[in-house]
Amino acid sequence: MRILVLGSGAREHAIITALLREEPRHEVVAAPGNAGIAAAVPVVALDPNVPGAVTEYAIEHGVDLVVIGPEAPLVAGVADALRAQGIPVFGPGRAAAALEGSKTFAKRIMDEADVPTGRAERAGTLAEATRALDEFGAPYVVKADGLAAGKGVLVTEDRVAALAHAEHWLQHGGVLIEEFLAGQEVSLFFLSDGHTVLPLSPAQDYKRLADGDLGPNTGGMGAYSPLPWLDAGFGSEQAFVDEVLDTIALPTVRRLAAEDTPFIGLLYCGLILTDAGIRVIEFNARFGDPETQVVLPRLVTPLSGLLLAASTGGLGGLARPVFSDASCVTVVLASENYPDTPVTGRAITGLDAASAVDGVTIAHAATALVDGRLVSTGGRVLSVVALGDGFAEARSRVYSALTEITLEGAQFRTDIAARVVA
Ligand code: AMP
Repeated sequence: MRILVLGSGAREHAIITALLREEPRHEVVAAPGNAGIAAAVPVVALDPNVPGAVTEYAIEHGVDLVVIGPEAPLVAGVADALRAQGIPVFGPGRAAAALEGSKTFAKRIMDEADVPTGRAERAGTLAEATRALDEFGAPYVVKADGLAAGKGVLVTEDRVAALAHAEHWLQHGGVLIEEFLAGQEVSLFFLSDGHTVLPLSPAQDYKRLADGDLGPNTGGMGAYSPLPWLDAGFGSEQAFVDEVLDTIALPTVRRLAAEDTPFIGLLYCGLILTDAGIRVIEFNARFGDPETQVVLPRLVTPLSGLLLAASTGGLGGLARPVFSDASCVTVVLASENYPDTPVTGRAITGLDAASAVDGVTIAHAATALVDGRLVSTGGRVLSVVALGDGFAEARSRVYSALTEITLEGAQFRTDIAARVVA
């Protein structure tokens, strides 16, 4: 197959790595990619957010499948344009992608599909926001209604900070005030062909910048998969996955199909396991980053067949994807001053030594080759990923690989997956 992967993050690098593991080898190209992706496959100077340009490229080069990594091309209508030309594309159209892009839309769909989620109120004015905050009480949860590049959600005990956050996002499309939900968070991905869903394996990510879940929210600082502690609450991972499939993923996909906005692509369910049951805190319309980096290395079933079947309405005939029992951990290396004003343009060294550690791969994110030197170009620079026989081994591998890497001012968490080892 000739596969075009759109995007330039560690998620896309992990997708490409999974595709390249298959036999026979596929012809994979990426746009625009990063330094790590460019070392693995040809990259095309193509703006992934311009529907006409992507479609033209796909037609001209006989692309069999387009895989859309990030949300921006979805919102720009790239999947719609490709589908209109009959090109198989893994990623929802603009209307279904609103499940991620509009919290109001997502809440409505969940309401109508009877999907369990936190109570929320949309506020259009500061007075409405204040009333909702006082109704729900502390801790306060304030969410931007539209896409906010990971900066839209504030969870705080501080009423003044909650109001300031609400005031800011009121000027940028509105806010949702939500009840606070306490519990472990789980990310669970489903492949969807618009009607049928197939689950991948659960993962847990770490959103806060610093150890102990301190500091600001980020795009994600690390993750691990599987989640051995699910057995205690649900009997088995499969029982948990079945419950989410039956009560959340399938009703959501069916509701979207009933509204003529079929969801074809990856339904990312961000969940909190509260004492009262599983609740959705968010949906995303694409693979999560960094969870993808720990889920795909454990995937035994060839990824390309799953993505193509989802893109062409054929998931119904497939068995559930199979995962290895290996433990997988990823730690994100971020730039100095991330997430506020990351310092970029700094040299990165030691990646060869890091990837020589047993079980370790590196997924590049914000990297570029400048005059033959590898440099950082953004906040989250790369993901170090390690597979192990158990989490103690995976953790020890990932952190020993990190000691090989140098990037001035770099930040990373030292407690990723520590709780499953303890
Ligand atoms: P989101 O972007 O919606 O995933 O929110 C980012 C993070 O904020 C989540 O991963 C949670 O840690 C936290 N969060 C979001 N909604 C809630 C909620 N209703 N109660 C508690 N924490 C939340």
